[in-house]
Formats: sequence, structure tokens, C-alpha cells
Amino acid sequence: MVEIDFSVYENLPKYKEITTQSIYVSNKFEKFHPEGIYSEQIFGPLENNRCQCGKTFGKINNGKRCEHCGVLCASSDLRSKTFGKIKLPEGIYVLNPIFIGTLSKTFGPFAVKNVLNKSKYHDNKESPYYFSMEKFKIVKSSRLRDDEEILEEYPVFDISSLKRCYDKVIELSKENEKLKKYIETHINNPKILDYIFLNEIPVISPSSRPIIKINNNAKSIPHKISTLYIKLITNKKNISDALFKENSDIFGYTVFKYQEKIMMIYDEILESNFKKKESYLRESLTGKTVEFSQRAVIIPNPALKPYQIGLHEESVKKLFLPEILHFLFNKFQEKDIDGVGLSVVEFIQKTYNMIGHGKKLEIPNGLFLEFLGKYINKLDTVIERQPTLYMYNIVAVKIGKVFGDNDIPKLNKDRIKPQFEADIKNSITKTLENVT
Ligand SMILES: [Zn+2]
Repeated sequence: MVEIDFSVYENLPKYKEITTQSIYVSNKFEKFHPEGIYSEQIFGPLENNRCQCGKTFGKINNGKRCEHCGVLCASSDLRSKTFGKIKLPEGIYVLNPIFIGTLSKTFGPFAVKNVLNKSKYHDNKESPYYFSMEKFKIVKSSRLRDDEEILEEYPVFDISSLKRCYDKVIELSKENEKLKKYIETHINNPKILDYIFLNEIPVISPSSRPIIKINNNAKSIPHKISTLYIKLITNKKNISDALFKENSDIFGYTVFKYQEKIMMIYDEILESNFKKKESYLRESLTGKTVEFSQRAVIIPNPALKPYQIGLHEESVKKLFLPEILHFLFNKFQEKDIDGVGLSVVEFIQKTYNMIGHGKKLEIPNGLFLEFLGKYINKLDTVIERQPTLYMYNIVAVKIGKVFGDNDIPKLNKDRIKPQFEADIKNSITKTLENVT
């Protein structure tokens, strides 16, 4: 059996509530909305020991909440540990997806499945289920004996009525020994009883559902889980009218909608726990193939813009080998440069020699600079920063600077020399091993 972490539910009253579907304060994608799904006020600061407005910072202020922006001056690790919550409207409960199995075992699997089926709603309303005090299951009214003892006041036809009936059964089980035993054998941990139905939905920490900014902050892509949470909040805004029509079909259907969203959120969380982070990377970056990858130490450089990265020229030559070859091929076709255009075979021979000797692409400096001048703004690089706890651990960046060995005089050149990897296929890995 899967171990369930009850602390998430036990601490629900303490979690701060997310109340708006807006992610940012403005459409400039800069400040996270204080009440939104990535809020620094709710989940902790983006930067270590620095509040959102920047007025409270430094180790001295660690643990202090900024009076101006309300963000705690603390470690940004908080963003990987802190939960939030979304409160459903008063009196509306959904079934906790984790415990549907437990409730099904107790009340009868087929019946519970039927009650949760939106398309059976009308049928169930006309001919509801009742809890049988003899079978300890919910039974369709048409299948009950005339003299069967049932909880007549608690017909079950949708999620809300299921909750009312469930509460009554739990209440009765405190006095009815037989029922008590029955519940105990089916629900082995008494803690579960309090969390089978939820009015507050836990929101997992932002680090486990990162948001990605691309194209110089022109676009921002929230994780699928965040999008689902946002949909839940949007749904909530639509409910106030429906609430007034309690007992009406709109009410019943609205709760079904919630239930669907919450099932989707739990599914997605479960799935993303199993999914490798790479698959998320691919999915979020419009499915581009990562051709070559490289491992290196990231050193801060204030001269670069936040969306830029500096790369060693050797890195550029290897990471963008296909682009460079394409450039060269076009170049060699220009008659005014080389006199005659090369055939493909000749081109391959020529570039093969370029790679062959120094075990790296020996492209003449002038040509390399020309390549950079033409393509540098078009080359997208994806960096994945370890550890994965940091919010922007996967970002797409532009190349802002290409440096050579002479630009790193104070550092041990051998240690800073990039190590290469290629993912995709073994054949490429092999080729690269030969090259490097
Ligand atoms: Zn502040």
C-alpha cells in the first residue's frame, strides 16, 4: 500500500489561500501576484534573503516579513517546501481522489462509481441510492427490500448528497458497534475519515510546477499543474450564482465540474512525479529537439542580460555544429568567395578534414566570426541548472557573448574546459567521443 502523507491535509488550515487566477501583477511578467499561484508572499521569496520589493534583505533580516510587500526575508528553498490552498465555496465538498478507492470499498464500488458519473446524475436523482443499515452499502432504491432498514433522510444522487450520507454514517458508527467494526475494517487508518471529502484543496509548492519564460520574457508558460489550479479558481468565480440555486441541477453539475478538475490535478501530480524532467523540458519548449548537450560550471557575469549566456567558443563550435556546417555549405556555394561552388562530396571531405586533425572543428576565425554575426541571435540555448529546486532551473537563453581561452586568465583552463555529451542516439555519442 502507498504511504500517505497526512501532514499535507493536517496542515491545510495553516496554508495560505490562493484567491486570484492572475499569475503576475501586470502583463510585463515581472512581479508575481501576491495572491496568485506563484506568489512570493504565499510560497516564499524568489531570491535568498530578499523580499519582493527589495526593502528587506540580508541575513540580518532573515525571518522578518517585509512591512511593505509582505514577503518573508528567508531562504528561497521555501518555494520547494511551502504549500498553499484553494478554498472551495462554503459548503461545497469534493471527494479526495486519493480516497475514492477507500470509499468505494466501504460503500460499494459500483454504486460510488455511478454516483460520481455526471451522465448518470438525472437518473440517480430520480431513483437515488440509500445507505442500507443491513448491508452497510449504498443501494439503488429499486433494489431495496420494502422492509429494509435504510437512512431514508439521506438519499444519495451526487457528490454533495454522498457527503451528507457519509457524515451521517460516520456519526452513527460511534454508537453502532457493528457499523463501527465494519468501518474500521474498511478504513484502516482513522485519519482518512477526516480527509475523504475536501473543501480546501492543497496547492503543491511552486518549484514542483515551474514557470518558464521565453523570448526575452515576452512569453511565460506555467506548468500544466498550475494551469489546472488556475482553472479551479476561475470555476470558483463562476459559482456564486449557482450556489443560490441550491438543490438545483446547476449546483449538482458545478460540483461535478470541481470534481473533474481535482481528479485532473491529482492525476497530473502523480504523473509528473514519475515523469522524467527531460520530458517536461521538451514539452514546454515547443518540442524542439535538443541536439547536443554540455556540462559546465555557470559563472555569473553582470555584463550579460538575465536572458543571455556566455559560451566558450569551443562550446559554440560543438553545440551548434549542424548550424555551422549549414552555414559553411552555403558559404562554399557562393562563387565570389571560393571561385567555384563545392559539390556535396567535396564539402563533406573539406569539413571532415576540418574536424579530423585537431579533434575539433578548425574553422577559420574570420568565417567563425561571420557565422556568429549572422546567427548569434537565432541560436537558442537551453540551460538546465542543478539542483532542480531553483525556480528557473530550466530556461531558454540567447548567446550574449562568445569567449576564448584568453578571456579566462585567472581560472584553471583545463578545469573549465567544457565536457560534452550527446543525448539522442548512441551513434552520435560515439561520434562525439571521437571528436572530443
Ligand atoms: Zn518588501
